[in-house]
Amino acid sequence: MTRLKKIAILTSGGDAPGMNAAIRAVTRTAIYNGLEVIGIKEGYRGMIEKKFTPLWSHDVSDIIQRGGTLLKTARCMEFKTEEGRQIAYNNLREIGVHGVVVIGGDGTFTGARIFNEEFDIPLVGIPGTIDNDLYGTDYTIGYDTALNTVVEAVDKIRDTASAHNRMFFVEVMGAEAGFIALRSGIAAGAEAIVIPEVSDEVEKLNKLLESGRRQKASNIVIVAEGDKEGGAYTLANKVKEHYPSYDIRITVLGHLQRGGSPSAFDRVTASRLGYAAVEALMDDQKSAMVGIQNNEIVLVPFRKAIKLHKSVNRDLLEIAQVLAT
Ligand code: ATP
Repeated sequence: MTRLKKIAILTSGGDAPGMNAAIRAVTRTAIYNGLEVIGIKEGYRGMIEKKFTPLWSHDVSDIIQRGGTLLKTARCMEFKTEEGRQIAYNNLREIGVHGVVVIGGDGTFTGARIFNEEFDIPLVGIPGTIDNDLYGTDYTIGYDTALNTVVEAVDKIRDTASAHNRMFFVEVMGAEAGFIALRSGIAAGAEAIVIPEVSDEVEKLNKLLESGRRQKASNIVIVAEGDKEGGAYTLANKVKEHYPSYDIRITVLGHLQRGGSPSAFDRVTASRLGYAAVEALMDDQKSAMVGIQNNEIVLVPFRKAIKLHKSVNRDLLEIAQVLAT
């Protein structure tokens, strides 16, 4: 018999479109199963500062289509200390919470894992980050929406690039990983994609420029923010030095990639993962992330999701290069 009667939910780290859909799914699945739900505002900070609010079915109405997060998110240094986590635990005990769903990235799951080890409180994670950089799940909530946002923006840049025969360096988000850059680059028909996982991309870019054959057409180079070459500005400056004849412009897409209404794909993913997270808590899971692999729901221990490295799809890299020739 599970002692689970009341669960809490929070969003933490960087926000991602679809987090609201996940909050809704967790809340409604829990209520359906006779559980009470407490929303914790501002991530782990809210746990420490008692920013608790009960969530009922109507509280999560009309949010599935909204970006951002109803519960707000934050980065909380105090939760990284033992004292901070002790206060958080006492606060949860005080209100009778026996399980927590955390929505976030690897930092959020690192905190959850430590918290579970120290206090034996069950925590289940839902991957919510636009970067898609978590091991153990093919997709994270927000990634698909961010991709579509980037592609829409690059399509517009392409129009003006073509009109002036210009080359554009477009910097996209993705933290240390190139998932957004690679997929958006393919979808937008980029001439080159520069990502941290591949070291010879700049050489290939140089070859493309040397050939000169694209000089009159528009050129789009997608650069992942985490690239070792130093981002779009550094890379563009290097190219300008060597190829002064190219008319070069730079666009850093920035935070617009985090906002907007979640795509249908992200809404469905968030709904499936939210439902699965509550089931996992009811099944006495204590320290794991719910994920999607080959379109099936899976449970991945936090230990693995945090430590193991997710690789970019080599087939996509090959496709990107072939199609840019
Ligand atoms: P994103 O990938 O979008 O940045 P994230 O979950 O990785 O999301 P972080 O800022 O790394 O974002 O982590 C979110 C929060 O998780 C931190 O502010 C902190 O409260 C908690 N956290 C991170 N690392 C630890 C840790 N080692 N110990 C305890 N708590 C941690």
